[in-house]
Amino acid sequence: MQKKFGYLGGCLVLIIAIIVGVGLRQRSTHQVTPATAHRPVTQTSHVKTTHVATTKPWIKLKRPLQLPILMYHSISSGNNLRVPKQQFVQELTYLKQHHYRTLTATEAIRALKTNTIPQKKVVWLTLDDAYKDNTKIMATLKKDHFHATINVITSFTHKTNHLSLAQLKQMKATGLVDFGSHTVHHLDLNALTTAQQRTEIINSKSWLDQHLHQTTTLLCYPAGRANAATHKLAKPAGYQLALTTQEGLASLHEGRYNLSRLRVTPGISTATFATLINVHHS
Ligand SMILES: [Zn+2]
Repeated sequence: MQKKFGYLGGCLVLIIAIIVGVGLRQRSTHQVTPATAHRPVTQTSHVKTTHVATTKPWIKLKRPLQLPILMYHSISSGNNLRVPKQQFVQELTYLKQHHYRTLTATEAIRALKTNTIPQKKVVWLTLDDAYKDNTKIMATLKKDHFHATINVITSFTHKTNHLSLAQLKQMKATGLVDFGSHTVHHLDLNALTTAQQRTEIINSKSWLDQHLHQTTTLLCYPAGRANAATHKLAKPAGYQLALTTQEGLASLHEGRYNLSRLRVTPGISTATFATLINVHHS
């Protein structure tokens, strides 16, 4: 019996030793694993956070987007096309206080084509003719983190009252403005032959593409007018949208090359300005 107990006891001790040994090995393995895995896990979660922030999905609208595209010209005073700087600044202050986002040309194209918006309140600031006094808007754009689109008459860049190529380049480098075509000579397209229209539309785009190292996608009609021939020419020339001076909110049902805008006139109150851009998206 003693011999048998001795044998069984030995076996028992051996089994206990094995169990304890395995247990210790497992514990030490567990201690090592989290320590080595900790760093990669942290990095992955950090990358994921950044990824989510930059690719926040745009809001898909149930009804067709009605986009307020504001139209300015000169930032000065003297006639009905000139808006004083003080008024422009007040209007941007209103946009800031009411949490508007100003779209770039690329964002406006995306919004209209996909019927989505990056946030509830959006507006697109456009200035026609590229007057030299448009440099006055840069400080307020920078301060309020806003963006504007300037439509350039390409043969006017040597004129005293218009932005020079050097100025266009400087403004573009800030990232606060982008540039569309307002044709080469600012002629009423309705009065031109199809061949003349083609030259105005194509040559202005090539000039902007070449000198500003961009792909110009926006066309703005001089005098706000165009005809069926212009609409047909715009797309093969490489434009994705075209702006008129028809009064109203822009909507894709007007036609991509026939978009309405909202004229900002000098002396309007901030309340009138607010009414102009007030859209209920759904
Ligand atoms: Zn013009």
